[in-house]
Amino acid sequence: MDHYFSPKIVSLLELATRVVETEVAPRAAEVDARCEWPAHSMRAFARAGLMGLQVPSELGGHGQGLMGLSVITEAIARACPSSALCFGMHCVGTAVLAAKATQYHKDHYLLPIAQGRHITTLSLSESGSGTHFYLPSTRLAEQDDCYVVDGNKQFITNGGHADSYVMSVAPAAGEGAHSGDFSCLMVDADTQGLNWQQPWAGFGMRGNSSRGLLLEGVRVPKPNLLGEKGDQLWYVFEVIAPFFLMAMAGTYLGIAHAAVEATGQHLRSRRFAHNGESLADVDALQARYAAMWIALEKTRGLLREAAAKGDAAHPDALSYILACKADAGETAVQLTNEAMTLCGGMAYRENSRLAQMLRDARASHVMAPTTDLLKLWLGRALLGVPLL
Ligand SMILES: Cc1cc2nc3c(=O)[nH]c(=O)nc-3n(C[C@H](O)[C@H](O)[C@H](O)COP(=O)(O)OP(=O)(O)OC[C@H]3O[C@@H](n4cnc5c(N)ncnc54)[C@H](O)[C@@H]3O)c2cc1C
Repeated sequence: MDHYFSPKIVSLLELATRVVETEVAPRAAEVDARCEWPAHSMRAFARAGLMGLQVPSELGGHGQGLMGLSVITEAIARACPSSALCFGMHCVGTAVLAAKATQYHKDHYLLPIAQGRHITTLSLSESGSGTHFYLPSTRLAEQDDCYVVDGNKQFITNGGHADSYVMSVAPAAGEGAHSGDFSCLMVDADTQGLNWQQPWAGFGMRGNSSRGLLLEGVRVPKPNLLGEKGDQLWYVFEVIAPFFLMAMAGTYLGIAHAAVEATGQHLRSRRFAHNGESLADVDALQARYAAMWIALEKTRGLLREAAAKGDAAHPDALSYILACKADAGETAVQLTNEAMTLCGGMAYRENSRLAQMLRDARASHVMAPTTDLLKLWLGRALLGVPLL
């Protein structure tokens, strides 16, 4: 499917693949076993100049859209899904920043990001609204020359490690909490009043440092506000949703790809002593392996088409984008599960690579917008019913 790729994407993919092979893959098992945030991966992406993937080229970045993002997260996730999630959320945060950046945002955030000196990330989720991430109750109050923020956030990927947080907040005045009225604000990591909750030790994606954050009287300079009042739906559907969904779809496609690859290797190499036959010689397994490959390539096709339509601002893009994260999540869960069966007891042993993939893949169905919610929105979009 290389015909979807521009020469720029081909060269970025080659670069990312080299970094993944030399610096990310060798420590992927350690990241999972120790619940370790992959600082080495993020440093390697920075050295390779990849952190500015979503920064406009006039600011020294790569000016990439959805295709570039999904292809690079896929390449990383084939080796280390936690690293892909951390890198992906940095890129989504960057895209939100870049969408309506002022000169201040360019100087303080986008230039350092392009130079590999700044990590950002997206902080939307709250325990109060859960999967309905567009309904924050973290509040913003205006005070003299700054905003004051109070509330709590949950599951912030790169939590405690990023330099800034792209945070959704509800205005203190007006309908506020749960009304869907929200703004995005840049909160710097060194701001007073940020209290990080317990370290992350999840079922999967164990290196992503997905942490809760309590915000108490956090004073944020006024220029840190992104966009203008009334921009919220535009941000959700034009920036946050497409970039987040494509970053995650790429990540889950990468896991599915790795599961198919690992299964193929196992089927070829596992040989019985009694008759010298390998698992690859067994008819039933050949057919099941073919079914895995078909599922993988169908998902890949949907993903490439969604990214191409999104980058071209095609009128049908949103439906494809909603579909492809739901589909990539289901394919990743289905194929890692199937891989566990085909690779037998060897895969079922404690903490095998396939077991890690299965655990990582499961995050797809609970990360908002969840698979169920995406299908609901897609059905509404296709039927011409309002999404929210
Ligand atoms: C590994 C990981 C990383 C994350 N990283 C980030 C991050 O970087 N930034 C961020 O902001 N958030 C992040 N999140 C949070 C995530 O996006 C969700 O907000 C969170 O997982 C929701 O959990 P919950 O228990 O509150 O779900 P709940 O809202 O309680 O949902 C539980 C289940 O009910 C279903 N459900 C709820 N309402 C409906 C409905 N109306 N129709 C159909 N089904 C429904 C959901 O689909 C889900 O399956 C991350 C989560 C994980 C697991």
